[in-house]
Amino acid sequence: MHIAKLPGLGPRSARRIALHMLCNKEAYMPALITAITEAYNSVTECNICYNIDVRDPCHICVDNTRQDDVICVVEGSNDLWAMEKAGFYKGRYHVLGGVISALNGKMPCDLNIESLYDRVKSNSVMEVIIATNATIDGQTTGHYLCDMLQGLDVRISRLAYGMPVGGELEYMDEGTIALAINNRQKM
Ligand code: ZN
Repeated sequence: MHIAKLPGLGPRSARRIALHMLCNKEAYMPALITAITEAYNSVTECNICYNIDVRDPCHICVDNTRQDDVICVVEGSNDLWAMEKAGFYKGRYHVLGGVISALNGKMPCDLNIESLYDRVKSNSVMEVIIATNATIDGQTTGHYLCDMLQGLDVRISRLAYGMPVGGELEYMDEGTIALAINNRQKM
């Protein structure tokens, strides 16, 4: 069952989706077949930032209204899309393609790390924002990148940790509360 192999779906959800499509095949399947075929034929990886797009370089890399001197480093294109949805960031990106993970056998050479170094070194980049996830592997990768970029004349920052918007203190885990108090800001 191909649908069950998709991330985020258990066998029951996959069965429900498959059954729903089969019972309404005229309504779903022709459009789905066209969409999947189009995506298969047109989706590619940007040779500059490794974002997934229908063009190479991607629409972000060719957008000359964006800042050239800031690069935000994310684990995957899904993270890039989340940042874009927020709509506040106007610099460039670099998609690592995962995180360094001893458990999953992912080494720095398996990720788009060397190309990040080359980009920062050969362009006039003023700041690199490390936006890897707040997981152990995400943080390990962040520290690795920070060490690697240390010798270059660039400001290195990372996303702030703390209270989510709309969050309530009593429902937060101790780690988040600890980071929120450590990263407190002057009002
Ligand atoms: Zn790009």
